[in-house]
Amino acid sequence: MAGEKNWFQVAQDRIKIAGAKLGQNSEITEILCNPQRTLCVSIPVRMDNGTTRVFLGYRCQHNDAVGPTKGGIRFHQDETIEDVEALATLMTLKCAVVGLPYGGGKGGVVVDPSKLSTGELERLSRGFVRALGTFLGPDRDVPAPDVNTNGQIMAWMVDEYSKMTGHNTPALMTGKPIILGGSLGRTAATGLGGVYCLRIAAKKLGMNLKGATVAIEGFGNVGFYAAKILHDEDGAKVVGITMVSGGVYDPDGIDPDDLKAYENKNGTVRGYKGHDNISNEQLRALDVDVYIPAALQNAIVKENAKDVKAKIVVELANGGINPDADEILEKNGAFVVPDILGNAGGVTVSYFEWVQNNYGYYWAEKEINEKLERVMSEAFERVYNMYSRHRADKVTMRMAADMVAVERVGDAIKTRGWVA
Ligand code: GLU
Repeated sequence: MAGEKNWFQVAQDRIKIAGAKLGQNSEITEILCNPQRTLCVSIPVRMDNGTTRVFLGYRCQHNDAVGPTKGGIRFHQDETIEDVEALATLMTLKCAVVGLPYGGGKGGVVVDPSKLSTGELERLSRGFVRALGTFLGPDRDVPAPDVNTNGQIMAWMVDEYSKMTGHNTPALMTGKPIILGGSLGRTAATGLGGVYCLRIAAKKLGMNLKGATVAIEGFGNVGFYAAKILHDEDGAKVVGITMVSGGVYDPDGIDPDDLKAYENKNGTVRGYKGHDNISNEQLRALDVDVYIPAALQNAIVKENAKDVKAKIVVELANGGINPDADEILEKNGAFVVPDILGNAGGVTVSYFEWVQNNYGYYWAEKEINEKLERVMSEAFERVYNMYSRHRADKVTMRMAADMVAVERVGDAIKTRGWVA
């Protein structure tokens, strides 16, 4: 998953660039370039056939100057420690950009969960939490779903931790099912947060989203909700959607709910209504108004950035665009909403979930979405202001977001007295 580049180094470079542009104390940069701690664990799991297999897992707590660390757990066959540390670094930046009282963390298990039975998946999830033990905690490190994990997995994990500690601890994890203290609005939050950003960007560029054409790479939870909200609420025309197993292209527009029903039945979007199959590379090069990478990292790199014709790119996948590609995208007239801003809606509603768990009182969905819109709009404006102020200094939207984040975490580091 690291690609040709070690993208932990890419994340470190981002911090160095932001620190240098801000003229920040280099000791702060050094602190932020080095994750505070990463725990590597092995997880023995009894398989259905009676044998025991050992899986490897990691949890990185990148920096807790602002508050407890926060970030998802992913299950992926190509997971590496660099990957987890890169993603934890991005979480520190992401939480800071939207102003949450959290630092960044991330976890990963090296496994292809599609090859496990439900029982095996449950035993692996519980085993991971037993192995991490009190490394986690609602005031220490708070996981959530990420690639290939979901609310049911969070439920097993919270249950295991509650049994281990003797305390019913819903605030340990976010993204839980509603019955166990999950928040209304959490499932759609990442997609919705991205759409809030897109609406502001479109307004600034004078683009009308009604009838605007959209291409979305990835049709998991994030890609689906982005597509659905844009189709249902904005009247945008979603013309292309791809997933690992193939894609679909329809110049007249796709109904995301209908496509989801087809995908649930067939395991792929390919072949939907007899439309043409489309590859990721073809999708990225479509002549559309908006392109949304919502799958894995490094979809857009230096080599293929020139193919992108969209006027707005909203990066919903963590690391979906390599920073090397930003300058080329901008030169070709694309406005980029970077990942730590574009996909921060998920962790923002995770924060609301954690607040509700700690409070023991639950809000209506409308209240949550209004609060989310406020957080996203304020964050967007903070980043846009930084971008406008430093544009002459070749600062991209990504650098501006990193600068907002690094400045905030730097303030917390200074105020704690970690540097003079
Ligand atoms: N995994 C999501 C992300 O990368 C959500 C993290 C969270 O809610 O803690 O932002």
